[in-house]
Amino acid sequence: MPDRLPADPHHMKRRGLLFVLSSPSGAGKSTIARMLLASEPELSLSVSATTRAIRRGEEDGRDYHFVSLDKFREMAANHEFLEWAHVFDQRYGTPRAPVDAMLSDGKDVLFDIDWQGAQQLHQIAGGDVVRVFILPPSMEELRRRLEGRATDAQEIIERRMSRADAEISHWDGYDYVLVNDDVESCYAKVKTILAAERLKRSRQTGLIGFIRKLRTPAG
Ligand code: 5GP
Repeated sequence: MPDRLPADPHHMKRRGLLFVLSSPSGAGKSTIARMLLASEPELSLSVSATTRAIRRGEEDGRDYHFVSLDKFREMAANHEFLEWAHVFDQRYGTPRAPVDAMLSDGKDVLFDIDWQGAQQLHQIAGGDVVRVFILPPSMEELRRRLEGRATDAQEIIERRMSRADAEISHWDGYDYVLVNDDVESCYAKVKTILAAERLKRSRQTGLIGFIRKLRTPAG
């Protein structure tokens, strides 16, 4: 039996997707994530924990859980993270419990994490993980976007530029790679990917029951 679907799918919720969006910071990933969350009620965001300082406009608990290094270490030691990584000398991690809750509630989960996180999630959840990488149209445009954001000091922008190059070098660890030269069309492509992935046979838990009924001779 190659199918992993249950015999009576009506007692099972749909198997959720772990939808990963990665990109160098400034490539437009957060905008696309926001647009996606606003239009997809079955998709919930995994809010990461981080040791970095809160930026203007950010909210604790909404954008990140901003925690101390001690607290982060404690969470890691207690296996509270699904994955975690060092990014820009800070630590970022995905709290496990909310993801488990969202998946068992039949939701798909969106992750705004880097290549290290994408790799770790893929190792843990394999076929349920869809990894999408968003590229900027050029490095000049990326710099322009980072400077336009004006939330970071120049030195940090330079570090983000060199980090962006390192991040891009991991493009081949993703299932889909998109260029964000126009946010609306990039967003439309991300939505198409999500829709197609949801339609995969292995994710449609109601299918076996439906096909059984479909093939049962009437009368
Ligand atoms: P920022 O500080 O600009 O919000 O994020 C910096 C980088 O950390 C981004 O590439 C973001 O995707 C990544 N990141 C955010 N949360 C997590 C996480 O929980 N795990 C991992 N591995 N990376 C994360």
